[in-house]
Amino acid sequence: MENTLVFAQSLDAQDPLRGFRDRFHIPQRNGNDLIYLCGNSLGLQPKTARAALDHELQTWQHLGVEGWFESLHETTPSWLSYHKRCQEPLAHIVGATPVEVCPMNALTVNLHLLMESFYQPQGTKTNILTIAGDFPSDQYALETHIRSRGLDPDTTLIEVAAREDGLIYTADIQEAIAAHADTLALVLMSGLNYYTGQVYDMQAIAQTAHKNGLLVGFDLAHAIGNVPLQLHDWGVDFATWCSYKYLNGGPGAVSGVFVHERHHTGSVPRLAGWWGYDEGKRFQMTKGFVPMQGAAGWQLSTPNILALSVHKAAIDITAEAGMAALRQKSEQLTSYLAFVLEPFANTIRVLTPTEPAQRGCQLSLLVKQNGKALFTYLTEQGIIGDWREPDCIRLAPTPLYNTFTDVWRVGEALRLFFVAQQ
Ligand SMILES: *Cc1c(COP(=O)(O)O)cnc(C)c1O
Repeated sequence: MENTLVFAQSLDAQDPLRGFRDRFHIPQRNGNDLIYLCGNSLGLQPKTARAALDHELQTWQHLGVEGWFESLHETTPSWLSYHKRCQEPLAHIVGATPVEVCPMNALTVNLHLLMESFYQPQGTKTNILTIAGDFPSDQYALETHIRSRGLDPDTTLIEVAAREDGLIYTADIQEAIAAHADTLALVLMSGLNYYTGQVYDMQAIAQTAHKNGLLVGFDLAHAIGNVPLQLHDWGVDFATWCSYKYLNGGPGAVSGVFVHERHHTGSVPRLAGWWGYDEGKRFQMTKGFVPMQGAAGWQLSTPNILALSVHKAAIDITAEAGMAALRQKSEQLTSYLAFVLEPFANTIRVLTPTEPAQRGCQLSLLVKQNGKALFTYLTEQGIIGDWREPDCIRLAPTPLYNTFTDVWRVGEALRLFFVAQQ
């Protein structure tokens, strides 16, 4: 690799996914494209989103309530089947069969719903194994959910801690599962760490959990659309995610769930609503809940069609590009970012693992001094990352719309910043 603009441009010219950038609105500043490295927080707007949304506004305008059963164009789904049209691309993205996935609700809501189904404390087996310092919403969900079952989160939660280098190791997670198996009822954790950017070996964790007779679920907020997933083949019991990060579904976009087919029996406990009720008989309004088959049986409420329209436009793009091709470019982009950061190793320590198989696209930079000043400088230069107190800058080049030239410009901005400091 070479740290030159010409080299970065040559990588862009050879990039088989280069056409996808044009499918997104790249925010501008002073007439220039921002270098947007914040897709780990809010992905950019697909250009198809507006037409998809407008189409459903038109359906509503022209058909009113009939929109549930009719559509304005043959190619677009009626509202009643909208979630089904999302199942195929979602299944592709998470490595599942369509009936195992369904868009619904929001991520933290789904965490609670899935815990209601898959956290069944019994006798001495009441504990939940997770990772320390997981995303706050996950921590709050676990804490309050455990309390709602009359248990004490302080003793019920078993947290696997980071080692001295700030990373949590898959081997440590597996060891903890085996060591605590007698008291555990569930393993539930993020599959990709939002702070460090490291991806855990979810297949290995699922295997260890199952060997010890435990169910395992993953929060895929930072994993979906970022790293290839094979939830079905890995045997993961359940998962949920959001779609506003790497899936570009828009602020607060609809979440989704995965429930492995081995749990597709009506007897799994759940908090139900009418939208999860057997579709053929939903409108008979009869007493006694009968779930739809598969993940769709966890739906509660009438789906938000306006949100789903944008969601579908977004996931169609990721599914079209394909996770294998996206991952290949992503590894190159992130390796190039690590490469242009190398000259600054005295001041900037990359917390994220060096080995590409152990990370997604994001690198978390720990800045030894003047971190906030550096972050402010990058922002002024039109380079958008995010800042985590006290010293962390997260940069996430995403393969759908970022370029190698974007990454080169980060290195160049850092060089100018440190030259000015001398
Ligand atoms: C982004 C993120 C969330 C956000 O949850 P919402 O319910 O969508 O607000 C939760 N958990 C993790 C791990 C995240 O990365």
